[in-house]
This record gives sequence, structure tokens and C-alpha cells, in this order.
Amino acid sequence: SIAPQTAANEPSLWRHRFPWPALDGHKYARGHAVVLGGTRMTGAARLASVAALRAGAGLVTIACPQEAFPIYAAGCASVIVDPLEDAGAFARLLQDPRKNAVLIGPGAGRGAQTRAAVMAALDARRACVLDADALTSFAESADELLDRLDKRCVLTPHEGEFARLFGDSVGMDGDKLSRVRAAAARSGAVVVLKGADTVVAAPDGRAVVNMNAPPDLATAGTGDVLAGIVLGLLAQGMDGFEAACTAVWLHGEAGRALGPGLISDDLAGALPGVLKALKAQG
Ligand code: AMP
Ligand code: MG
Repeated sequence: SIAPQTAANEPSLWRHRFPWPALDGHKYARGHAVVLGGTRMTGAARLASVAALRAGAGLVTIACPQEAFPIYAAGCASVIVDPLEDAGAFARLLQDPRKNAVLIGPGAGRGAQTRAAVMAALDARRACVLDADALTSFAESADELLDRLDKRCVLTPHEGEFARLFGDSVGMDGDKLSRVRAAAARSGAVVVLKGADTVVAAPDGRAVVNMNAPPDLATAGTGDVLAGIVLGLLAQGMDGFEAACTAVWLHGEAGRALGPGLISDDLAGALPGVLKALKAQG
């Protein structure tokens, strides 16, 4: 696994762990990822679910409120859409042992329902990615979340989300690397603090700084795509820290492949070219 010192994020750190599909593999061997969809910002979960498939997850299900079902069902044909019939439906969905990785946050909405979905994913002991509204929903009760996490959880805040969740425990005074390390130590989770120089830290002290991301990624929805790539790698059994490092690098390369004018809808579509080049490096 990756050495404990701080390093620049590059494929040599994690390429040997990449979950290339086995010659005789089938889709169930590549994991079944679940994305919680919301009611109002429906684009976010759709972007993430396509990204999880492009990252190699065997199946991806969007679990969504019933009233939003037609919107999700009209999205990507490769994604399964499962309407949630009542408040307990998300927890019941996670009783299926094949659904092995969960993303909550993009477009989920802030409040008690999102908090309950996060707790259901943690109770089910699934590898999970928590982003956006899943983080902000705990702004007033950060310890309630932070006390429950472990190294199979990957948190993907931007600076604002980081401040709301970790402002009290970690403070906002230190440099970025120290703050992310402290956040990972406090939570026991892998923390990805996004930005031009995204930092990934594990609770055991490992950290990498990512340098390949172009500023063209500073546009709506790219964070949702990143969360989906992490999810897709977790579903294939990658460990949280390596999945996060790999996803951040792939996301940056996809951004570079597209360059100026990129929008988040295009980003997952650039992954096959990036992955092909990665695979050709051996
Ligand atoms: P979010 O804030 O959740 O929409 O996520 C934005 C995504 O774009 C993250 O992956 C950031 O790391 C990336 N990003 C934002 N601004 C820049 C920038 N100036 N240069 C490179 N990547 C960026
Ligand atoms: Mg975001």
C-alpha cells in the first residue's frame, strides 16, 4: 500500500491496485454501487451514477424518492432506478449484500432524511462516499457523524463543506495538508479536501497532494462526478485511501483530456480514454 509520507499523487502509488476486470469476470464481480438521489437537484446523482459505471462498477442503482422516479428513469439507460416507497426503504435496499458501496450527498437535500440515509449506510457497514449535502446535513451535529465513521468511508468536501463539518474539531487556521490530516485522524475516515490542489488523507497519516487537475474543472457538477468515480472504485473492492487517490487523478486526467469548455456532463465520457492510456502503461 501507499507509503506513509506525503507524496504527489501519481499512478505509481496505486496502479498495481487498479481493479481491471478479470478475463472471465461478470458484472456481479465488479460490485453494485448505490447512489441516493434527491428530489430537486436531480442532475447531481445522475452525474455520479454514470461516473461510477465508467469507473468500472458492475451495476449502479439510483435509489430515489418516488416523485422523482420519472426524471431518473429518463436518464442514463445503463443505470438502474429504484423508487423508495417509504422512510425505511433505503435501509431495506441495503439489506441486499451485493449492494456493497453507497454514495450519499450530491443533490440529496439537507436535513433529517439525508442524515437518516447516512446512518442507514453506516449501520449496514457499507463502504461509502459522503459528499455535499450528506456533510452539510451534519453541520450542527458534526460529532454525531464523525464518531461513526471508519476508513471505508471517504468524505469529499470542498472548502465550505470542510469548514462546516470540521471547523469545530480541527479549526481552519492550519495549512491545508495539516487540516486534512487532522480531519482524517479525528473522523477515522479518508478525507478528500478538493480544490486546485486536492489533498487526500487517511486516518493512519498517509497523505497525497494531487497536481494534475486543470482549472477547467471549476464548473458545476464536477464534484459529483468525482464522488461517483470514488464510488465505482469502492464497489470494485479498492480500499478507501487508494480509491480516493485513484479517483482524484482520473478526474484530473479526464479534465485535461477535455480542456477548456468542459462541462461535467462530458467528464465521465472522457474516462475510457484515460483508462486506456493508464492500462497501456502496464
Ligand atoms: P465541487 O466543489 O464539489 O463542485 O467540486 C469541484 C471539483 O472541481 C473538485 O474535484 C475540485 O477539486 C475541482 N476544482 C475546482 N476548482 C479547481 C481548480 N481551480 N483547479 C483544478 N480543479 C478544480
Ligand atoms: Mg460538490
